[in-house]
Amino acid sequence: MQPNIVLIYTDDLGFGDVGCYGAKSVKTPHMDRIAREGLRFTDAHTPSATCTPSRYALLTGEYAWRKPNTGILPGDAGMIIEPGRTTVASLLKKAGYATGIVGKWHLGLGANAGPDWNGRITPGPNQVGFGYHFLMAATGDRVPCVYIENEQVVGLTKIDPIQVRYGKENYDGELDGVRDRAGLRMDWSKGHNNAVVNGIGRIGFMKGGKSARWVDEDMADVFTKKAVAFIENNKARPFFLSFNTHDIHVPRVPHQRFIGKTPMGPRGDAIAELDWCVGQILATLDKLKLTKNTLVIFSSDNGPVLDDGYIDNAVEKLGDHKPAGPWRGGKYSLFEGGTRVPFLVRWPARVKPGVSDALVCQVDFLASFAALTGQSYDKRSAPDSENMLAAFLGDSKTGRTTLVEHAGTLTLREGSWKFIKQNQQLYDLAKDPGESTNVATQFPERVAAMAATLEKIRSAGATRP
Ligand code: CA
Repeated sequence: MQPNIVLIYTDDLGFGDVGCYGAKSVKTPHMDRIAREGLRFTDAHTPSATCTPSRYALLTGEYAWRKPNTGILPGDAGMIIEPGRTTVASLLKKAGYATGIVGKWHLGLGANAGPDWNGRITPGPNQVGFGYHFLMAATGDRVPCVYIENEQVVGLTKIDPIQVRYGKENYDGELDGVRDRAGLRMDWSKGHNNAVVNGIGRIGFMKGGKSARWVDEDMADVFTKKAVAFIENNKARPFFLSFNTHDIHVPRVPHQRFIGKTPMGPRGDAIAELDWCVGQILATLDKLKLTKNTLVIFSSDNGPVLDDGYIDNAVEKLGDHKPAGPWRGGKYSLFEGGTRVPFLVRWPARVKPGVSDALVCQVDFLASFAALTGQSYDKRSAPDSENMLAAFLGDSKTGRTTLVEHAGTLTLREGSWKFIKQNQQLYDLAKDPGESTNVATQFPERVAAMAATLEKIRSAGATRP
C-alpha cells in the first residue's frame, strides 16, 4: 500500500537548532528520533530564505521568483496559487489520498481583493487540493489573529464581525502598539506595533472578532490537536498531512510548561515546545500502528533568525548555540544559512537509516511524490521540480546537479560551488563551508559558466502556462 505522508514543516528553524544537527542547549529527542530511525540530510534546502516563497515553491514545484508578488505577504492578501493548479496536495488527492493542512498558510486567501473574514473564505486550500484545513492565515505576528477551519473563522459571532486593514490608521478605540506600548507584555524592536492582541503588538490592524482571537501560548497545543485528529480520522486510508507549525516564528510565546526548559529564553523554549509537538505526531502514528508505512518528512521553511522584531532576548541568551550550524547567514540571507535547513526523512518500511549529503530541495516534492504514487502532471506548471525520489529514499547518494537559492536575488549551487550573482561572489563550500573567502577573481571561467547557467535556468521558466 502507498505510504501515508506526514510533512512536518516548521517555521524559521535553523540547521543548528536541532540536537541531531549539533544543538546542545536545547534537547530535541523527538526530532532526533526521526533522524535515528531515518535519513538525515546535510545539504537539503528550502526554495527561498523566507516563508511565503518557500511555501509557494514547495506546493507548486515552481520557484516563486518566477512569479511577481510572491514575497512575504500581508495577512489580508488574496491567494497567490491559482485555483485548480497542480500542487503536491492536488496530486496526492488524485492518487487517492485524504489531504489536509494544519497550521501556517501564508499563501493568501480569497480572490485578489483578499478574503471575506466574516463569510466563506474562498478560494483557499480547498481549491488547490487540500480536503481539510485548519489554519492561521499568515503568521503569528500578523493580523487577523484567528483560526480558520474549512473556509470559516473559528468561534466568530455575528454581533462582533472582524475588520482587518494593513498600512493605514488604527481603528478608533483599539489598543495600539505605539500609543499603548508601555502595557505590552512583549515589547517590539521593529515593526509589530499596530494592533495589540493578547498583549502583543502585531503587523496590521484588526477590530472585532474578540471571541475568535487566538491565545498565543495555546497555539502549539491547538494545532497539534487538530493534526492528531486528522491522522486519527484518516487512519484507514492513505493520507497526506502538512503540519505547518507556528514554532519557532515570532512572537515566541510558548506555553507555560515549556518556559525555562532551555537557557536560551523564548526562542529556545519554543524549540522545546516544537519538539513536543513532533513527539505527539510520532506517538499518534505509533499508537495507530501507522509508523512503519508512513513517510515522515521533517524540515523548515527558511533559516534561523534571532531578533525578528520583538524584544525576547534571543540574542542576549544565545550563549554558544549556533542556530545555522556551520553555515553563514540565516533567514533573509543569500548565504547557505538562508536555505540549508534540517531535513529528515523516515519511512521504516522502505528507508534505511543513515546520513545523506545529496543536494535536494523542497521544490522537488511535487515531481518526487508524483513518481512515488504513479501520478502524471503537466510539467510546464512545475518547471523547477525534479524527481529526487531516489535521493529522498536513500537509494541514491547524489541529488541535483544545480539548485537556485533565493533571497531577493538569486544564487546558484553546482556541486560544492556557490555563485552569488550579487557582487559576483564565488565560494567553494568543500573548502570554505562558512563562505568567508570570495574566490571569484581566481576562477573567472567558473564564474562566467555559472552566471550563464543561472541565466539559462532563470529565463527557461518564462514559458509556463
Ligand atoms: Ca519562515
